[in-house]
Parts: sequence; C-alpha cells; structure tokens
Amino acid sequence: MLSDVEIIYRSALYPRMVTSGVVAPERAIADFTSEDDEDGRRVYTISVGRGSLLPGWPEVHDYGCRTAIESNVERALIKQAPLKRPGDTVHYLGSFKLDVSAVLGAPQKFLELAVLHHPRPNLEEHCNIVMRRNAIEARRIEVSAERTSILVHLRLSLYEPEAHICACDDDLIDTFGNVTLTLEQVEPS
Ligand SMILES: [Zn+2]
Repeated sequence: MLSDVEIIYRSALYPRMVTSGVVAPERAIADFTSEDDEDGRRVYTISVGRGSLLPGWPEVHDYGCRTAIESNVERALIKQAPLKRPGDTVHYLGSFKLDVSAVLGAPQKFLELAVLHHPRPNLEEHCNIVMRRNAIEARRIEVSAERTSILVHLRLSLYEPEAHICACDDDLIDTFGNVTLTLEQVEPS
C-alpha cells in the first residue's frame, strides 16, 4: 500500500481519452475497471504510475510510453494480427499528477479506496487505485452514487498536466501532435 505522502501519475492515452483536441479530467479518469483480486473478490481499479519510482518528467513519460507499448502488445495478441497504426493502436500523450492523500480523501462510506503497488511486465512502476465494497449494507443506488462522487473527487484532484509526444510517435505528429491536457471539464456532466 502506498503511503499518503506519495505522488502518482495518470497516463493520458490516444485515442480513448481525447475529445475536441484535448484530454480533459473526465476522460483521463472515465471509470474504474472491474477485475478479481488474488482472493477472487471483485475489485475496481484505475491504473497509475508510482512517483517514488519516477523521479522526473523524462521517467514519467518513459513509463507512459511503456504503458502504450504494453497495451498494443495485448491488442495484437487479441487481434492475432499486426495492428494498423494509428487505427488500432494506443499512444501516450502525457500525464496528470495526483496525490495519494487526495485519493484517500475521497468519500468512502460504502466503498473503500487504497493505492497498491502492482508491477506488471515492463511496468515495474505500475500501481492500481483500488476500490472495493466495505461491509456496510447499502442499496445499489447509494453505492453507485458514491462511486460517481469518488470519480468526480479523483478528477478534481488531478494537477500539473504535462503533454508529451514520444520519439516513437514522431510519424503521427499530424494525428495527435496538437492534443493538449487540460484541468477544465469539457463534457457536460
Ligand atoms: Zn512512445
């Protein structure tokens, strides 16, 4: 479990997070992904990079580049054919900062949050923001409202967005070279 003085980074990815030429907070953190943890319990996760292993922006951007590469490796395995570039591929566009203390400060009445180090192949710095149900009884609608509040809280906690185009994406500069990262909400909620 990461301590509440740590910083984490959320990678911005093309095309999934881009609307109207920007990556806005509501796209950078659209929702949790559901998965089962080691004990087979249902948990909800958001991928981030661990700041203590990423001392500067060059390292943060290198991590982001590797998240895109690993995502493309998985996509090629699923497609069982080479990916069309950029039609089928994912690309790194920069990162947002987030404090673990801010994550842990989100409303948690029926749900609980933690940030866990969760290394993956070629992504030693990978962590998950993990959300799970606590033992308190609640109606589905109450849990769903809290999940929405948590997402809003996480979006508002993003700061210092830093756009970046990888050297490996120089050929696609006309496609997404102008995309910026913003802290402004773009889509009506
Ligand atoms: Zn790259």
